[in-house]
Amino acid sequence: MDVGETRFVLDPKAAVHADYTFVSHAHIDHMHNPTRNERIIASKETSDLARARGYDLGSTTEEVEGVELLDSGHILGSRAIKIADEVYYTGDASGRERAFLGKCRTRRARILIMETTYGSPEYVFPQTAKLVREVNGMIGSAFDRGRPVVLMGYPLGKAQLLSYYFSSWEPLFFHDSVAAMNKIHVDHGVSLKAGRGFNPSEDSDRLPSGPWVMIAPMSSGRSHLMSHLRSRYGAILAAFSGWAIKGGYSSSLGADYSFPLSDHCDYSELIKLVEAVSPETVYTTHGFAAEFASDLRRMGFSARTLSAYQSSLSDYVKGD
Ligand SMILES: [Zn+2]
Repeated sequence: MDVGETRFVLDPKAAVHADYTFVSHAHIDHMHNPTRNERIIASKETSDLARARGYDLGSTTEEVEGVELLDSGHILGSRAIKIADEVYYTGDASGRERAFLGKCRTRRARILIMETTYGSPEYVFPQTAKLVREVNGMIGSAFDRGRPVVLMGYPLGKAQLLSYYFSSWEPLFFHDSVAAMNKIHVDHGVSLKAGRGFNPSEDSDRLPSGPWVMIAPMSSGRSHLMSHLRSRYGAILAAFSGWAIKGGYSSSLGADYSFPLSDHCDYSELIKLVEAVSPETVYTTHGFAAEFASDLRRMGFSARTLSAYQSSLSDYVKGD
């Protein structure tokens, strides 16, 4: 879609000719190194997180005429975008408050482009407070038996929620890749405790022999590091992902426990998001895109799946 003479592209994987490129957040699947002339719309937090991950977005802006950026609640700095009254694009979005993150803010628009990672009715997540209680119970029982616990999640986003919720346990270790992302959160005013650093190539034989908690990137229980933490220290592995709703997730990952803590909307939150935007047309992308579009059509919405992920916004609308 062109607003007046202005062309926007949304989360492209490579530079695309346009007046503005919107980068919704700093997860790698939304990143690219822009060309010199590209004008990037992104939050300051996204720009800083991107730089720490090896992507220089250059001088970004949040102020463009006719454009409104809204907190999408997914990770630090994540934004949804509304362009004129025409289009509202969610990027990745969460429908609930978690720790230091708010929930996705919405606006009415004629066209809604939305992520549908968990757009199937089986994906309804439990209350976060209940999940946190369960995890604390699991850690407590491990400590009673003298066993350490590794909490695994994506290093940007999930790992900071884990750092926030479970930092009262001592001793507390942060894997280096998590600590690097935690630091940027602290620089932006998020209150995260400074635990002890853990460099896997230097420290894997220097951990205490009693119980401890480590926040680490998601990895297979069969990986070299996790196998070592298990065999040497008797570590218990817990994985955190929305996919943990499905039985068998722990065993497929080789973890002892898994918990459905997610940075995305669950099914019911996706439906609420559509109702709040009240669009004429919905385009779905990611995950259960076809199933969710079909459910929306049954509810009376005009909905379809995007044929090509992250093509230009004008392409979306030309096909309408
Ligand atoms: Zn994301």
